[in-house]
Amino acid sequence: MKFSIIADFYEKIEETSKRLEMTDLLVQLFRETPTELIDKVVYLTTGRLYPLFIPIELGLAEKLAVRSVAMASGHKVSEVEEKLKKVGDLGLVTEQILKTKKQRSLQQKPLEVLDVYETLDKIAKASGAGSVEAKLKLLSRLLLDGTPKEAKYIIRMVIGALRLGIAEYTILDALAITYTGDKENRAILERAFNISSDLGLVAKTVATKGLEAVKNFKISVGSPIRMMLAQRLSSPEEILEKMGGRCAVEYKLDGERVQAHKNNGEVNLFSRRLENITEQYPDIAELIKNNIKPDRAIVEGEIVAIDPQTGELLPFQTLMRRRRKYGIKEAVEEFPASLNLFDVLLVDKTDYTTKPYTERRKKLEEIVKKNERIKSVEAKIVENAQDMESFFEKAIEEGCEGLMAKSTQPDSIYEAGSRGFKWIKYKREYKTEMIDTIDTVIVGAFMGRGKRAGTYGALLVAVYDQEKDMFTTISKVGTGFSDTDLQEMPERLKKYKIDHKHPRVDSKLKPDVWFTPGQVIEIIGSEYTLSQVHTTALGAIKKDSGIAVRFPRFTGKWRDDKSPEEATTVKEIIEMYQAQIKTQPKTQKENSDS
Ligand code: ATP
Repeated sequence: MKFSIIADFYEKIEETSKRLEMTDLLVQLFRETPTELIDKVVYLTTGRLYPLFIPIELGLAEKLAVRSVAMASGHKVSEVEEKLKKVGDLGLVTEQILKTKKQRSLQQKPLEVLDVYETLDKIAKASGAGSVEAKLKLLSRLLLDGTPKEAKYIIRMVIGALRLGIAEYTILDALAITYTGDKENRAILERAFNISSDLGLVAKTVATKGLEAVKNFKISVGSPIRMMLAQRLSSPEEILEKMGGRCAVEYKLDGERVQAHKNNGEVNLFSRRLENITEQYPDIAELIKNNIKPDRAIVEGEIVAIDPQTGELLPFQTLMRRRRKYGIKEAVEEFPASLNLFDVLLVDKTDYTTKPYTERRKKLEEIVKKNERIKSVEAKIVENAQDMESFFEKAIEEGCEGLMAKSTQPDSIYEAGSRGFKWIKYKREYKTEMIDTIDTVIVGAFMGRGKRAGTYGALLVAVYDQEKDMFTTISKVGTGFSDTDLQEMPERLKKYKIDHKHPRVDSKLKPDVWFTPGQVIEIIGSEYTLSQVHTTALGAIKKDSGIAVRFPRFTGKWRDDKSPEEATTVKEIIEMYQAQIKTQPKTQKENSDS
C-alpha cells in the first residue's frame, strides 16, 4: 500500500467540515487498506504506532525535526526555523520547503506504508549513544523519499502533532461498516475495545477473523480495561432512589485513578486515559508487587498524595507533580503517595468484571495485605439518607471530595468504558449554591491585550455531545489562570492549533485561533444560564438557546489525564441545569453570556 493513499485521505479528512464525512472517508481508507496492514493504519491515524498503553511513542523534539527538514531539503536550520516562526506548523513548513527543495532525490520510488511505519518505529525506539544522529538520518531519508504532502504528515506524526481529531468511536463505526457492512455491529467491536483498549487489535481481528472472533475477546493482564465511570446526583435521597433503596458508599478521594496489572513479578500501572504510568509511580508499583497477594491480578484504586509530616491527604495538584519524565526518584521522596483500592477486575484466571459489587469488594479485602500506604478505600452499606449524609460529613472531614455510591444489586457488574448509574458521585459542591466543576475542551482562543499581549486572553471551551460526537461551546474563560499558565499557554496549545474550525466543533463564536479538540481543563462558575451565544444543549431547554457557564473560572487543573471525549457531556450539563432550576428558581437569567 502506498503511503500517498494515506496522505491523500488525511488531507481530505482535514478539509472536511462535516463530521459524518469523516466516517465515510475512513471507510474508504480502510477499504483501500490490505487486511494485514489495517492495525498499523489504525494506529497511524490516531497519531501513534501502538495502542496508548504501550509506552513507545513518537514525539521527537521539534528542534530535531527541524534539523532533519533542513538536512532533507538542503536548507539551513536557521531558514527552517525562520519559516516555522512565521507559519507555526512544522508540517506545513516542511511541505512548503520541500516543494522548492534544493536537493532532489535521484530515484524517487513511492513510499510504502510499511516502510514509513517501520522507519517511524525505529525512530521511536532508538535510544542511547548515537541515537540522535540515527533518528536524524532515518527521518530525513523518509522526507527525501516522500512527496511534500507525505512529508507534511510524516513530520506531524513524528513530533506527535498529527491531531486529526478523530474519535475512537468514529474509527469503530468505520470498522463496523467496512468489515461487517453494518454499523450496528459497532457495539460488538466497542465491547472488545472496552476490554482490550486496543483499536488496532480489534481492527485486525475483525478484518482477518471476522465478528465471531471479536465476540470472543477476553480481558487479559497487560491490556488495560477501559474504566467504569460514574454519574452524578445531588442528594442522598435521589441516589438511594436510583439504587433501589440500598447501596454501598465509599470515600471519593481526589487523586489519580490507576488500574494496576500484576503478572508475577511484573507490574504495569495505567492511567484513566490508559497510558502506561508505571515509570512515574515506582513506589506504587512496588506496593502492588508486594501487597497484592495473588500472582496475577488487576485492581483499581486512587493514588493520592500524602503529607509526609502528618500523613494527611494533599490536593490533586500536588500529586500531578509526580507526572514527570525526569527526576522521578526525587519526586517520589518529595511527594510521597499512597494507594486506596476500590475494585478488583481479575484474580488469577477469574474475570471479576462480570461479578456483582459485593463479591468484588469481598475479594478485594481478601487479596490486599494492608499497611499505611496501601489499603482498600473506606466503605459502608447504607439504606437511608441520614446514614449516607453522616458518612459524607466524615469523608469531607478527612479530606475527601465526597462519596462514591455504588450499586449492590445483582447486576452491579464492572461496566468497562461506561458512565452509568451503577456508580454515582456525590460531592460537596452539589450542596452549596456553586455548581460542580466541569471538564471542558479547549477549541479556540482569543488573543490577549495589555498585560496579556503575546498570549491568549481567553479560551473558548466546549463540552462533549456524545450523541452527535461533536464539541459544543459552553464558555469563554479568562480568569483563574496563573502567570505561569498564561505564559506557557501558547506553547502548550501549539500542537492543537489549526487554521479553521475543526469539523467536530459546533460554535457560533469566531475566536482568533482554532484548536483541534485535545486539551481538557477543569472550570467552575457560579451557575448555568441560558445563552444565545453558546451551542451547548441548543434548543434543549428553550428554542434557539444554549446553556452557558456564568462567571467561569479555571480551577488550575489541566486535565491531561482526560481525553476530549471524557470531558463533561451535554447530557450532564442539561441534568445539572435542571437540578439547578429545581433548587434555585430565581437565579436564572436569560442571555447573560459568560
Ligand atoms: P471528578 O471530576 O468528579 O473527579 P472525573 O470526571 O475525573 O471525576 P468520574 O468518573 O466522573 O471522573 O469520577 C470518578 C473518579 O473519582 C474516578 O475516576 C476516580 O478517579 C475517582 N475516585 C475516587 N474515589 C473513588 C472510589 N471510591 N471509587 C471510584 N472512583 C473513585
